[in-house]
Amino acid sequence: MTDRPVRTRYAPSPTGNPHVGNIRSALFSWAFARARGGQFVLRIEDTDRNRYVEGAVEAIMESLRWLGIDWDEGPDIGGPHGPYFQSERLPRYREAAELLMERGRAYRCFCTPERLDALRASQAAAKQPPGYDGLCLRIDPAESAARAKDEPHVIRFAMEREGVTVLHDVVRGEVVFENALQDDFVMLKSDGFPTYHLAVVVDDTAMAISHCIRGDEWISSAPKHIQLYEALGWEQPAWAHLPLILGPDHKKLSKRSGDTALLDYRERGYLPEAMLNFLAFLGWSLDDHTTIISAEELTRHFDLARVVPNPAVFDIERLNYLNGHYIRAMDEERWVRLVAEWADRGLPASIPRPLDEAVVRAAAPLLRERVTLLEEIPGLIAFLFTYDAPEYETALLAERVGDAATAVRVLDEALVRLDAIGESEWTTAAVEAALRGLEEPLGMKLRKFIPVLYVAVMGRPTGIPLFDSAAILGRERTLARLRAARARLG
Ligand code: GLU
Repeated sequence: MTDRPVRTRYAPSPTGNPHVGNIRSALFSWAFARARGGQFVLRIEDTDRNRYVEGAVEAIMESLRWLGIDWDEGPDIGGPHGPYFQSERLPRYREAAELLMERGRAYRCFCTPERLDALRASQAAAKQPPGYDGLCLRIDPAESAARAKDEPHVIRFAMEREGVTVLHDVVRGEVVFENALQDDFVMLKSDGFPTYHLAVVVDDTAMAISHCIRGDEWISSAPKHIQLYEALGWEQPAWAHLPLILGPDHKKLSKRSGDTALLDYRERGYLPEAMLNFLAFLGWSLDDHTTIISAEELTRHFDLARVVPNPAVFDIERLNYLNGHYIRAMDEERWVRLVAEWADRGLPASIPRPLDEAVVRAAAPLLRERVTLLEEIPGLIAFLFTYDAPEYETALLAERVGDAATAVRVLDEALVRLDAIGESEWTTAAVEAALRGLEEPLGMKLRKFIPVLYVAVMGRPTGIPLFDSAAILGRERTLARLRAARARLG
């Protein structure tokens, strides 16, 4: 490995909302820099103008900020190695390309798209691997310079075709690539924009990046980059290719198995600390037992030496578990704020705003044990904000107890007992005592008949604790809902 001061980067292309796998690369690069007291750079690789998506740069920064990943240099804050948009660095790439041409390691290629298509087709027909055939490599430099004045062209890198290129990867060890299988790739396109290969080498060098930490999908490009470094006479960074992330079926992560934009998880009510904890262990471990880790601990202990090469599995159940864990672990005030926020955005507009703060505060502790995703909050507490119970199918009242006659008995008995509690004695404990007292006369366990009362009060057979809910609703509303349910059953 290198002994240069540690500087890492996250270099996304602004092609949309960054997905979880991509953000995992950012997280590891950041954590490594922080653990080594180094610096972390954000660079926007916007050289593919066809794939540019409006708003993507903001989404990238928003995703990082949500997880608490901060950068020392970047497009918004600048820094000594700017600009941090590749589209603003074009002269640097041209300069490198020209240097390589002078050294005989790059050449202009005037082949038309039609010729390249025909070449590809004939290679496919002959079952040969696709690749440029080197036609323009043989053009005399003076002729090439003259033609460049008015003929469209690209600049290709002349790959070494003999021997092997060896990647020394921190994660994978030594990886050997046959040079005979390499191709003279395009470095500079006809519009003057570089391809990723040239831009990443020029910028990682100019920005003094010590460790290039990126996804495994780039490993096949590594020989191109290594040969570029060698031809330019520049020092390579240490390389770390992070393991693939697979779905639970051990197939490539897809939209269905969780490969969606990071911010979509935020929208569904995942907490940033749960997501960070989850991503941290996709390919890395602290030791053989730790499963809960904070950002602070991660930035103290992260090490590339404990990143494994074999694919990581994206297990949504694990993420859900972590979310529940952090919901239960957070302090009361933050929880109340989150409940208020998610209730406000999720409850129907027919419920007047601002929401009753006392109700939010009373409901918050009841929700803690019941919620996995914050998006579940409004559905669980909507019934507390209306006079009548939420809509439900009458059949739901009888569903869990078996028949309507039993549901009627439950409601009748409950009404008698609850009606006997005075307004001033109406508390969680009193409601609980009254309803537990029904086990005898009904000859049924509470657990068996309580769904009838849940449906009557909340419109659903399960939910947040019923006794507390009745206390929050108050005597009048609770009794009115039970009577309404009874009336529905005739
Ligand atoms: N622009 C590349 C991407 O979007 C960056 C790869 C790298 O980190 O070098 O994935």
